[in-house]
Amino acid sequence: MLLINELERAKSYGDIFSLVKKAVKNTLKEHRVGLMLYLGNLPMNVGAFHPMGTNDIVLNRKLLKAAADTRTKWKAYAFSILLHEYLHTLGYMDERRVRGLTYRICMDNFGSDHPVTDASVSGPWVNLNPEAFESIGEEMELERVRDFERIESGYII
Ligand SMILES: [Zn+2]
Repeated sequence: MLLINELERAKSYGDIFSLVKKAVKNTLKEHRVGLMLYLGNLPMNVGAFHPMGTNDIVLNRKLLKAAADTRTKWKAYAFSILLHEYLHTLGYMDERRVRGLTYRICMDNFGSDHPVTDASVSGPWVNLNPEAFESIGEEMELERVRDFERIESGYII
């Protein structure tokens, strides 16, 4: 499968996100740039949040930390959650559609027998509404992830 080896070599959120973009490009032929990633403390049933109309994705620090006991699990969660939110930033708003696409893209690029594809089915896909997001306030401890987005040299947009 296309991206299995590359994911094994990935070390950071930036590495994983460039694979998310590749996977979406492979399957949907869509692409965008200009996103920023933050880590923040969200409720444990929420993987990430994309405040509509912004270029930001907030990943749940607590959840990813809990998943980080194995490298494979951490990558599987990080990949599927980033993919889900990236699809939102491309303008896909319907949750069921986004979940279906997340699964399809993981299948296309990793096959059915891969932890990333499992994670794309199991979630966590609870929606956080903007009010709930606002109300978390300072406890969120937002932290920007550096080098999240790279412009690949020779990449044609
Ligand atoms: Zn969603």
